[in-house]
Amino acid sequence: AAPAAASGATAFKVDSPHVRYGSDVIEADYTYDTTVVTRDAEGGSLRARPAKVGYQFRTKTNVGRVGLMMVGWGGNNGSTLTASILANKMGISWETRKGTQQPNYFGSLMMASTVKLGVDEALKDVYVPFNEVVPMAHPNDVVIGGWDINSASIGDAMRRAQVLPVDLQRQVYDELHQLKPMPSVYYPDFIAANQEERADNTIGGSKQEQLDRLRRDIRDFKQANSLDRVIIMWTANTERYADILAGVNDTADNLLQAIASGHDEVSPSTLFAVASILEGAPFVNGSPQNTLVPGVIDLAERERSFVGGDDFKSGQTKIKSVLAEFLVNAGIKPLAITSYNHLGNNDGRNLSAPAQFRSKEISKSSVVDDMVAANRLLYAKGEHPDHTIVIKYVPSVGDSKRAMDEYVSEIFMGGLNTISIYNTCEDSLLASPLIIDLFMMTELMTRVSYRTDADSDWQPFHSVLSILSYMLKAPVVPPNTPVVNALAKQRMAMENIMRAFVGLPPNNEMLLEHRAF
Ligand code: NAD
Repeated sequence: AAPAAASGATAFKVDSPHVRYGSDVIEADYTYDTTVVTRDAEGGSLRARPAKVGYQFRTKTNVGRVGLMMVGWGGNNGSTLTASILANKMGISWETRKGTQQPNYFGSLMMASTVKLGVDEALKDVYVPFNEVVPMAHPNDVVIGGWDINSASIGDAMRRAQVLPVDLQRQVYDELHQLKPMPSVYYPDFIAANQEERADNTIGGSKQEQLDRLRRDIRDFKQANSLDRVIIMWTANTERYADILAGVNDTADNLLQAIASGHDEVSPSTLFAVASILEGAPFVNGSPQNTLVPGVIDLAERERSFVGGDDFKSGQTKIKSVLAEFLVNAGIKPLAITSYNHLGNNDGRNLSAPAQFRSKEISKSSVVDDMVAANRLLYAKGEHPDHTIVIKYVPSVGDSKRAMDEYVSEIFMGGLNTISIYNTCEDSLLASPLIIDLFMMTELMTRVSYRTDADSDWQPFHSVLSILSYMLKAPVVPPNTPVVNALAKQRMAMENIMRAFVGLPPNNEMLLEHRAF
């Protein structure tokens, strides 16, 4: 494999009068082509009008020193990611029964997939690594830290997780054993009762004092490691849903007041989101619960800080967001999607409690909505396929999650088609690269600003980072914005928005250079 590029490396320069390379920025003039559709007065025929909107993008090219702080650092994901980045950084290989295995970043969109840049003189496609379209942080350069309610060192957490091969664990243990998670906020009401024995590393005091402590932790971590910016990622246990209560968590001011008065319905994850926003650090929620309550989004918008969520889209849901799109776009009508999972890691244990399972069920269930709504030929308004989700805790399978899915669809002339899928793999080896992608994309968005022909000031993108949707099961989007679940569309959005940052037109598959001689 090609050696990994350093932070900020790009694979090409753009030759265009519309693209300017400064000493520490790239500026691009960009024309966004859209089609605006109107309906004639009587609700009759549609009119489509091509439209152009002028944008300018400015990307700071100096990535600087960046940090990733994980909440739930001592979990399977947190410890697996930390050990794997160390192995990549130090080039640590390990012995398996099939021979020597080198570390890699497989499963990361940014680190292990490519984007078509264009065609060369011979009309052959030229591809570049995704992370070399615009300057991005490199995971090997990231300073990692975080919190956990359990005091185990990251070395011991890695052993407890039983995910990575033992010969790799052996080589990284000593270094990881030096890393200790900071104490965290534990409200037993929010995670399963079966997690209680883990909670030996917690912060006391009032909610306000806890918020102040988390804010100080973020500031201290930044300062101690001379970081330019830090990104906070929730990879701790799934919480129950928080009730959305008027006067409590519905606006920024109410939420801050609710924290000051120690209201019960403010969850640990929401407290972390608020701490991050107030410190200007982007916060991403990798679990399904509704951390990003309206008051959090309001606060993020007010502070112009970034938030993203919810729930890493790793295995079953990722396939669903491909397969459902394929079926519906092929003119085939899914009638029933039935999904079983069983897993035996601590996440599975926590999800065996009803309130925490319910959070996961909600986040897994909306994933086909946009595809169904897009096809009125197959589905009447409001019609929806049956969609059932079951999760069971089976300790002996450990982190090796099993997912079984059945898709029953109606085909030509009333015929039925059944597709069954059986998927096995280590859950944390799917989730860890997603954390990298979420981190890299979020970090990039902190360095990008835009302006349109209509406004003269540079401004950041919207506080709710819907561009992270590819990595998330239930994407949170800005208010009144459509949610896109279809995986190919989500990838296309990332690819083309990053191309826009350097003034390149969107990729499409027209291939006119090959079809029109
Ligand atoms: P895990 O149980 O191994 O790790 C979670 C860690 O969070 C534990 O070490 C626990 O002690 C800690 N924790 C709990 N509450 C905390 C708090 N308030 N503050 C700080 N630490 C806290 O779970 P995991 O397998 O690493 O998964 C983490 C989360 O990611 C889960 O919510 C899971 O649902 C979600 N997720 C995982 C995947 C995947 O494929 N692994 C996919 C989607 C979502």
